[in-house]
Amino acid sequence: MGQDLRAIIPHRLKPDRIIDLPELLNSHNKRFLTLLPEVRLDVKNIGVKHWHDGWVWFGDQPNKTSDILEIWKKSDVIGLEGPGSLFLSFGRQCAIIGSWIRWREFLTDRRIFNGWRAIVQYFTGFLKASSAIYVPDSGPVNAAVAEDYVFKGNSFETIQRFLLEQCGQPLTTIDAVEEIEKDVYFYDDFGIKEYDEDSVLTKYMWNNYIKFTTEWERKVNLAIILNWKAEAYEDPTVGWKYNKQLGEDFKNDINAHNEIKDPDAFREKVRNRILKEHKEDIFINRCSKCNKIVRTPKAKQCFWCGYDWH
Ligand SMILES: [Zn+2]
Repeated sequence: MGQDLRAIIPHRLKPDRIIDLPELLNSHNKRFLTLLPEVRLDVKNIGVKHWHDGWVWFGDQPNKTSDILEIWKKSDVIGLEGPGSLFLSFGRQCAIIGSWIRWREFLTDRRIFNGWRAIVQYFTGFLKASSAIYVPDSGPVNAAVAEDYVFKGNSFETIQRFLLEQCGQPLTTIDAVEEIEKDVYFYDDFGIKEYDEDSVLTKYMWNNYIKFTTEWERKVNLAIILNWKAEAYEDPTVGWKYNKQLGEDFKNDINAHNEIKDPDAFREKVRNRILKEHKEDIFINRCSKCNKIVRTPKAKQCFWCGYDWH
């Protein structure tokens, strides 16, 4: 389990252009597929059956033009699945292009690095944008927050400012990445829409203080995510029981099986343990205006009421 590739690209597409996207993209298909054959997981023969020949609206989104416009009007995210493992999600002001190619491969394999850049540049041109931000998927919390900002309709400038603040200036070359982090385990559920102190606190702890979790806890969390992935993609081979990283001992661990069955209870239990055992190292960052918990200990903007204390 590793992090996949994403890039955030600003766009100014109007609704009448949005509805033509599948057609527009399909007429351009051939060009970008030659840029990096690895985006086509079907040629990698890893048992994934989740790809298309062309671009289609995401599985649970209707095909009818009027329905897509309706979703768009409600400011919800609309998305397309493309050939191989490519997908595109559109927020109001930014789009995310993603692939199942690993972030780690992108950092270590020059050919994949060049190929993915060419693909992102292709889509940057397609969307008539002048820049893009390369991020891994929701593993690291800052990447997850940036992705969330896209889905909430924030501007490219807001996302850029957030990332500059949290991560510093972007690196100028790939060689500047001194140490490539090991694959991280992550908490995937960042789709909380209504404020609920309990679940927001759980999410906050998992996202920001994963360093205080034990290896076993991270494994349970990974298994929960893989379970979800297998269900979402209707592909049992991406499920946790097929994952090599988890090891046989873990797979036979009855305690693990029990925890995996109730993800919410498990994550809350871990949260409470960390809050108790690492009290002095934990900072719960709250908005001074609405008192709700914000995204990270360093955040200076409230995701819930919009208050900005930069
Ligand atoms: Zn607030």
